[in-house]
Amino acid sequence: VPAIEAENLNFCYPDKTKALHDLSFSLPVGSKAAILGPNGAGKSTLLQHLNGLVMASEGVVRIFGEPVTRNNMNQIRRKVGLLFQDPDDQVFSATVWEDVTFGPRNLGLPQEEIERRCETALAAVGMREFKQKAPYHLSYGQKKRVAIAGVLAMQPDIILMDEPMAYLDPRGKDEVASLLQGLHLMGKTILIATHDVDFAAAWADQVMLMKEGKMLARGGTELLVEKR
Ligand code: ADP
Ligand code: ADP
Repeated sequence: VPAIEAENLNFCYPDKTKALHDLSFSLPVGSKAAILGPNGAGKSTLLQHLNGLVMASEGVVRIFGEPVTRNNMNQIRRKVGLLFQDPDDQVFSATVWEDVTFGPRNLGLPQEEIERRCETALAAVGMREFKQKAPYHLSYGQKKRVAIAGVLAMQPDIILMDEPMAYLDPRGKDEVASLLQGLHLMGKTILIATHDVDFAAAWADQVMLMKEGKMLARGGTELLVEKR
């Protein structure tokens, strides 16, 4: 079964903005996929549907074959991690350590397991020495790394990232790129929304081009040739 399947997704915001227009696609387990499209194309809205944060007005999302419903959102979110575009929407605890451990603590994991996962996750984003810092005092790029660590600590099978490279310095971008490669080698299914055509062309094995809530094209990185 595919890791992710979306079938005829339609979504309108309460103010009647039609953000998704009959989207269908599927991604096999282990995919490295990138969604590209201008601001307002619906990329963020789509990602939010894929972990059950937002429910489609019409259509269905299936995760490893299981339809996402209001009743199983919690199980789905353990399988599908979502990095928000803006870390200020995701990083809210008093310290970095508290923030990264939040999800694993909610899972009720044993203390040693929580510590092991969170140390590993913070090391993966180069933020171990910031454990006791208040996220409030960190730079935007550092908060972004903390948000990524929080997603990694949950060890989801599917990882969705909304603009993971945005606002990172060149070194931060390189680190996220190698992190994504490492996650791929671990067998994770990864879908990112990005404006970075060069990165998508170099990294992705599947590309989705969106505009005005519609899927304009879906295929390999050859779709990006004209855009480069
Ligand atoms: P991008 O286009 O780079 O994805 P946006 O500026 O569209 O980023 O969105 C940033 C944040 O603002 C998102 O959390 C999104 O949900 C929210 N947002 C975008 N458009 C609207 C809108 N018309 N009304 C309310 N919130 C919005
Ligand atoms: P992208 O991530 O590709 O920039 P979004 O998914 O953020 O696109 O937005 C898709 C459309 O939905 C845009 O027209 C945006 O203005 C609108 N939108 C996003 N969030 C909201 C919201 N909370 N309320 C109303 N409209 C929104």
